[in-house]
Amino acid sequence: MTHPPQMNDIIRIHDLRFRPYLTPERLAKRVTGMGQEIRRDYADRQPYFLVMLKGAFIFAADLLRAVDLPIELGFVRVSSYSGTSTTRKVNVLVPPDPEEIRGRDVILVEDIVDSGNTLYHFLPELEKASPASLTVATLLYKPDAVEHDVPMEYIGFEIPDKFVVGYGLDYDGQGRQLAGIYQVAEE
Ligand code: 5GP
Ligand code: MG
Repeated sequence: MTHPPQMNDIIRIHDLRFRPYLTPERLAKRVTGMGQEIRRDYADRQPYFLVMLKGAFIFAADLLRAVDLPIELGFVRVSSYSGTSTTRKVNVLVPPDPEEIRGRDVILVEDIVDSGNTLYHFLPELEKASPASLTVATLLYKPDAVEHDVPMEYIGFEIPDKFVVGYGLDYDGQGRQLAGIYQVAEE
């Protein structure tokens, strides 16, 4: 039997090695704090959380449970990324339900803003569905990698421009279930 990786272990996924970067405890503390910020800002409203699949699903599950408001939930899937380098194109693979979004206070939940390409192209698409308001909550943000001006109201952690996995984020399909976030040890 193999044991689940301990947070102090270097791990290997495909051809790359990753070192521990954000522990489950640090993630939990920050995500709870973000939930409380949202709770405060949306105190008299019922925000609609639109979760970007697949990478944001674990972050969203923890974030929503830290927001003590009558929230609603939807999912969307866009792809703009393969391997470890960003491509320019954004495909909407699972579109949002426009009837659910119209007139709502929408909070888009994203795992990571890297170049900003995905949200730069996707946010205007969402605006076409006429939400009452639209804000972004991202767990991770790489300020050194960003190429597009993307509005982000809630940012969990600003991180260096190095590839990370875990807590929902993958490397070519693997690593999403890791409880912590790991940073590439070599490229
Ligand atoms: P952007 O369009 O901002 O360049 O990248 C957005 C998407 O690229 C993210 O939602 C994520 O799917 C992917 N991405 C960017 N950086 C990383 C990273 O360090 N690790 C992983 N696993 N995905 C990333
Ligand atoms: Mg993503």
